Amino acid sequence: MNRQYQDARNQLIDSLRTRGIVNEQVLQAMLQVPREHFVSKPFKQRAYEDVALPIDKHQTISQPFTVARMTELLEPKPGDSILEIGTGSGYQAAILAEMGAKVYTIERHFELYNEARRVLKDIYPDKPIQCRFGDGTIGWAEFAPFQGIIVTAGAPEIPESLLKQLAIGGHCIIPVGNERSQVMHCIIREDEQSFADYPLEDVSFVPLIGKQGWSGDQ
Ligand code: SAM
Repeated sequence: MNRQYQDARNQLIDSLRTRGIVNEQVLQAMLQVPREHFVSKPFKQRAYEDVALPIDKHQTISQPFTVARMTELLEPKPGDSILEIGTGSGYQAAILAEMGAKVYTIERHFELYNEARRVLKDIYPDKPIQCRFGDGTIGWAEFAPFQGIIVTAGAPEIPESLLKQLAIGGHCIIPVGNERSQVMHCIIREDEQSFADYPLEDVSFVPLIGKQGWSGDQ
């Protein structure tokens, strides 16, 4: 592996620690995944800056700190089935797979779905990662319930379908707000009927577009 990338990756993980990420499994997974493979060519040299970077279709690969924070809140365990809405570059899916989860990830842009699936297959030919092209706001009923659901786009409200597909004890991490700014929510399913909803910090994500999200053609 390119020494320069490796040094930059080590520095990034140190800075995530300094910023308060404490889950060692998350940090170790981020030490393993080559982020440079998930960013667009013109941005490869910036792969280990702690910033969101543009990908195709006017979308973004999330900032490493955000990925770390959301994964920490999700608390994935080896063998858990995790649903991700918004595959984007595939980087978040790679982190979850690296942590031993069975990953189900959905993307609404065909080009992004296709490219992420190619990169993930290339890097992780043997890991259980399933990619789907379509509207993730309705979830993926065939493989429910999920021990964790992570939504990497900003929703106007929490999609009912996703809550229905969350296992008891499972965490759903989702930014909820308007199209420019949201609040990160951690929702824990307590039993069949009840959910505890913890609103956390302010965040800013691209919009979640779909049946149970925003309407639009971005
Ligand atoms: N997790 C991604 C990564 O690691 O690169 C970052 C995702 S980007 C911030 C948000 C993604 O959500 C975009 O690729 C966007 O097309 C996708 N998206 C928005 N609404 C969606 C929906 N209803 N279903 C699936 N994907 C959706």
